[in-house]
Amino acid sequence: MGSSPSQVVTRFAPSPTGFLHIGGARTALFNFLFARHHGGQFLLRIEDTDRERSTQPAIDAILDGMRWLDFTWDGEVVYQFARQQRHAEVARELLDKGHAYYCYATPAELEEMRETAKREGRPMRYDGRWRDRDPSEAPAGVKPVIRLKAPREGEVTIHDLVQGPVTVSNEQLDDMILLRADGTPTYMLAVVVDDHDMGVTHVIRGDDHLNNAFRQLALIRAMGWPEPHYAHIPLIHGADGAKLSKRHGALGVTEYREMGFLAEAVENYLLRLGWGHGDAEIISRAQAVEWFDIGAVGRSASRFDIKKLENLNGHYMREADDERLVRLVLPLIGEALERPLLDREILLLQRSMKDLKVRAKTLRELAHSALFYFRARPIPLDEAALKLLQPAPEILREARKALADVPEWRADLLEASVRVVAERLGLGLGKVAQPLRAALTGSNMSPGIFDVLDVLGREESLARIDDGVAAVTGC
Ligand code: GLU
Repeated sequence: MGSSPSQVVTRFAPSPTGFLHIGGARTALFNFLFARHHGGQFLLRIEDTDRERSTQPAIDAILDGMRWLDFTWDGEVVYQFARQQRHAEVARELLDKGHAYYCYATPAELEEMRETAKREGRPMRYDGRWRDRDPSEAPAGVKPVIRLKAPREGEVTIHDLVQGPVTVSNEQLDDMILLRADGTPTYMLAVVVDDHDMGVTHVIRGDDHLNNAFRQLALIRAMGWPEPHYAHIPLIHGADGAKLSKRHGALGVTEYREMGFLAEAVENYLLRLGWGHGDAEIISRAQAVEWFDIGAVGRSASRFDIKKLENLNGHYMREADDERLVRLVLPLIGEALERPLLDREILLLQRSMKDLKVRAKTLRELAHSALFYFRARPIPLDEAALKLLQPAPEILREARKALADVPEWRADLLEASVRVVAERLGLGLGKVAQPLRAALTGSNMSPGIFDVLDVLGREESLARIDDGVAAVTGC
């Protein structure tokens, strides 16, 4: 582990106690972009020291989410739990240097400190009773923990790249535990040792870790290690301003994939949550790498707004390559129809993609809007379609006759013939086109109706018009 001294190294360090949620993904993105912007390294560390709460499915979900979003990390994933020995070694080194000590306080003593703190309405702080006591006074049968001998006077200021200068007085921090009585390292020790060994120069993470930074810094200073730069980014809130929860759509990022969002839309959305570059809304990966600047991250919590995400997704779908969209919606269509599409149907989907993709906000919507092409006749008619068909059987019969006579089945010729019918009947084009749409698609919304006719082909189109007439006349 480690890197050349001048190189920027960031890391994303999720605890695998759940999926990769929106907040975590944004932290990962900022770390990723910051490293790429500076030509540095972006590392991934799985903080799996909490054995009870860490699970393999959560690790898999995090890696899956990172890969889906294409946040490529450098080197191998570092698993924190596997580094326990190294963490313990550092605790012992601190002991040898006189920066840490054995503490034999019993559970009962600690409980008493907790009670006193509670009575006095302040957070529990260990009172340092073993700080200067000789271990020879140790009570029999108590296994000691190792605590950091933290500075007691003065104050520490962190020049946070997002929060600005933040100062805490040392008397607010107690001598934290580094190694538990059973020899296992605490989370605080593990983070500091790993960040150091991985050569991390910039710690970019949620501002719920700002308090930890002061304790971590005390440990770093005791070891005489280089201090990283810190950037604590504000949390994400729901549209109503409350802390983001499931109710707001705080789902795992891969659930957004399930819902039919494109990875680049999610990325663009996450980027704009709390960071901006002038008025730019649509920002490509390449631009983001070029522009990203951690100092421009705002200090207030940003609000998650699914509507904005949908709009961005709509944009990226319109821009997306037709073939890619076909590949992505095929399984969704298959799922809805409960059968895979036939080769000729896939061709038909390819031909209609340019018309379909401009109307949908998600891949699921896109798949749904394409279903009418593949339904077996007579296709289901929704309420709006029936309403359009009800007064129009005569119009449809006229249109059918004209369409059947069109020599070559091409959108422009089909349109011309329907226009002639409308004129002859003294109707606006819509009065003919809408019932046609209802019969051909089963609803009142679809791509341009002449393109639909073109894609469906002569035989299928005429048969569907007949079905539409039959549905309201019985014959
Ligand atoms: N594992 C911590 C978390 O998931 C992050 C710790 C850090 O970034 O220092 O919240």
